[in-house]
Amino acid sequence: PEIAGPAPRHRTVGVTVGEGEGAVTVGGGAPIVVQSMTNTDTADIDATVAQVAQLARVGSELVRITVDRDEAAAAVPKIRERLDRIGVHVPLVGDFHYIGHKLLADHPACAEALAKYRINPGNVGFKEKKDTQFSSIIEQAIKYNKTVRIGANWGSLDGELLTHLMDENAKLPRPIDARAVMREAMVRSAIGSADRAVALGLPQNKIILSAKVSAVQDLIAVYREVARRSDYAIHLGLTEAGMGSKGLVAASAAIGVLLQEGIGDTIRYSLTPEPGGDRSVEVKASQELLQTMGFRTFVPMVAACPGCGRTTSTTFQELARDIQNWIVTSMPEWKKTYPGVEGLNVAVMGCIVNGPGESKHADIGISLPGTGETPTAPVFIDGKKAMTLRGATLAKDFENVVIDYIER
Ligand code: SF4
Repeated sequence: PEIAGPAPRHRTVGVTVGEGEGAVTVGGGAPIVVQSMTNTDTADIDATVAQVAQLARVGSELVRITVDRDEAAAAVPKIRERLDRIGVHVPLVGDFHYIGHKLLADHPACAEALAKYRINPGNVGFKEKKDTQFSSIIEQAIKYNKTVRIGANWGSLDGELLTHLMDENAKLPRPIDARAVMREAMVRSAIGSADRAVALGLPQNKIILSAKVSAVQDLIAVYREVARRSDYAIHLGLTEAGMGSKGLVAASAAIGVLLQEGIGDTIRYSLTPEPGGDRSVEVKASQELLQTMGFRTFVPMVAACPGCGRTTSTTFQELARDIQNWIVTSMPEWKKTYPGVEGLNVAVMGCIVNGPGESKHADIGISLPGTGETPTAPVFIDGKKAMTLRGATLAKDFENVVIDYIER
């Protein structure tokens, strides 16, 4: 029997966000889109322009900014203008909570400058106000021909809907687990709000859905159900994933499982940066996940073995690190000259146990000498042994081999 790869992509209605040079399509079979969010005060135009530009330059195809008050809304058109002036055309997504209806109505230039409005159905208002405030944002999206993300979130779940479902559950002869009721509330909040937007006149090809949860198993369960019940384009993300390796691992586990099942049209890693830390880490994490899973290609991959007692010197680790860094820093220039270079696969291996075999699977591979082996390093190109390197210039010689391969 054929050993299966990832499931076919869940079919969704494609949504084009933005226009002109920076426009991207989310869903409808388009490549999975990488996105991120700033953590600057949007009213601080200099800081926000700098961070959006940084995120876009490392590969964020959509960038979300907080629009939480009048000063922030007033800054948005100026930020858009400044970005366009420096050649950064990435679509901007406005993140609205509580008063989005008011900010969009009071700041038409902001409504025009944004490519997409993010609405959280859990905090758009209460009781009778809820419907009018939600409708008001959808009307603005229709008026300005913008897309909308209906972003339900576990941390701000629609209280009225949850209470209603909890009450209904309590009346059942055998009530289900409260956590399962919360999952159901998430799914219904996201899909119900999107259906409401369609009923108000916003076409489905203007709507993206998300239903973010902070626990991996809940997130997988909720998104599976969203995909089973609808064909809205899907934004994936584990909310409040956390700091450091915990955040990376949790988000990768959750997003990875769903992508493997064909679910997800755009992804974001919600990582807590170290104080003063680099925000672009979340863009790189998204790219690395998509590339290691085989969905997209961004930079050449360097496969390296972990090393073990057979690698007694640090030569192997140093070479693996240096080659990886060299490729990443050279890539922007290479891309201009050699289209498709990002598909290159390089292997740096520590000894003959797996070295030659792994090197043969890469475009270019080198197998360094382990303990007790002859001090030579065979190089494999397109699966065949091409040469043997040795001596102090080995690292430089290998770089030249890689350059020569790229040029050819
Ligand atoms: Fe160890 Fe060799 Fe395997 Fe690398 S390839 S982990 S050096 S046995």
